Amino acid sequence: MTEIRLTNTRTRKKEAFVPIDPANVRMYLCGPTVYDRAHLGNARPVVVFDVLFRLLRHVYGPDHVTYVRNFTDVDDKINATALARKEAGAPGTLEELIRARTEETIGWYHADMDALGALRPTQEPRATDYIGAMISMIADLVEKGHAYARDGHVLFRVRSYTEYGALSGRSVDDMIAGARVEVAPFKEDPMDFVLWKPSDADLPGWDSPWGRGRPGWHIECSAMSHALLGASFDIHAGGIDLQFPHHENEIAQSCCAHPEGQFARYWLHNEMLQVEGKKMSKSLGNFFTVRDLLDRGIPGEVIRFVFLQTHYGKPMDWTAEKAAQAEATLRKWRALGAGIDPAPSAAPEVIAALCDDLNTAGAIAALHRIADPAVLVASARLLGLLEAGMGDWAAAPEADLSDLAAKLADLRVKAMDTKDFAPVDALKSALVAAGVEVRMSKAGVELLPGPNFDAAKLEGL
Ligand SMILES: [Zn+2]
Repeated sequence: MTEIRLTNTRTRKKEAFVPIDPANVRMYLCGPTVYDRAHLGNARPVVVFDVLFRLLRHVYGPDHVTYVRNFTDVDDKINATALARKEAGAPGTLEELIRARTEETIGWYHADMDALGALRPTQEPRATDYIGAMISMIADLVEKGHAYARDGHVLFRVRSYTEYGALSGRSVDDMIAGARVEVAPFKEDPMDFVLWKPSDADLPGWDSPWGRGRPGWHIECSAMSHALLGASFDIHAGGIDLQFPHHENEIAQSCCAHPEGQFARYWLHNEMLQVEGKKMSKSLGNFFTVRDLLDRGIPGEVIRFVFLQTHYGKPMDWTAEKAAQAEATLRKWRALGAGIDPAPSAAPEVIAALCDDLNTAGAIAALHRIADPAVLVASARLLGLLEAGMGDWAAAPEADLSDLAAKLADLRVKAMDTKDFAPVDALKSALVAAGVEVRMSKAGVELLPGPNFDAAKLEGL
């Protein structure tokens, strides 16, 4: 069987991936809090770990991989949005307004991630459907001495778990020094974090042994991954910004509640995304959502391609120039592969690159070297590119440019003799003005209709 090697954040090593059960490879990715549109940075883990999902399906079989990505649909930001709508006079109870907001946001999320060519996970649990599982897990932690109830809150006792900090390689005391830990009168120790908090009448709440309240964020992933993947599963993935405290807290909760299991065996973290060399921020005016880019006419497939050109473990920079280059490449590949059935399998060098710690940049470099269009299509699809349903944007405009390409090649040959290149330049300029991309090399002349292609401007050339 093909060996996949992955950089495990927990050991800081590239390791051979050996699943617990090859008949059911299990992976969890922390999903979105559904209060607003996903921004470009939110989409990076979805796209890079979608490639991992595809690779696992390729190696172990499509029916032998379970991929879970949650929706956090209970959160103070969601509550605040719903409360603001209610105060603005929106009809319905607060619960109904919260539900409407999360439904709407989940719909947007699906539409946007579908546009990026991300396969839907096997399961997409919503936190509010697992409140019972969270309450029993918290009760279990209290009983085992890893958590305590105080003033309607339940807190995790961080110092009861000696392994705390192992994922990020920091000691508890270092973390206290470096983190903005909230000091609260109901905490035994500033590092202790909330498992359950009280809800007043204005907030969504569920009855619990500690009164009416709602769960903390971290317990959601522990409860949902346990319910759907078991006490031990293979891969837990997420953005590097979640490593501490979110993932440390998930590990502490899960390993203390289920000491019989190992929780996640391989931890994968993607690095952050910048825009034109700067951190994305609303104040810099370079903050955008996936939808903003799609609305500007940048196809989801192009966004995906740009993401995959950088290894997930490195910071990536979104630039307009990269998007333009990606668009030209995809347009060329789509023209080459038009109407061609994919080969039965992807090129070995593409598979090898992906198996080497998900080297998507190497896989794309390998795609550039593939001459056979059928193999190109099959290989690109392993990365979720050149999929049949995603190519409408690149549908070649109705144009046969072969005569013009021959004419330009002919003019060039003559110009070599006469040393008068003016006719070549004139035709080239006219083509560019009509939105045609002109590529001239020793091998020949290639004409590609670009996004602004206008056939009318070719008349008379
Ligand atoms: Zn999580």
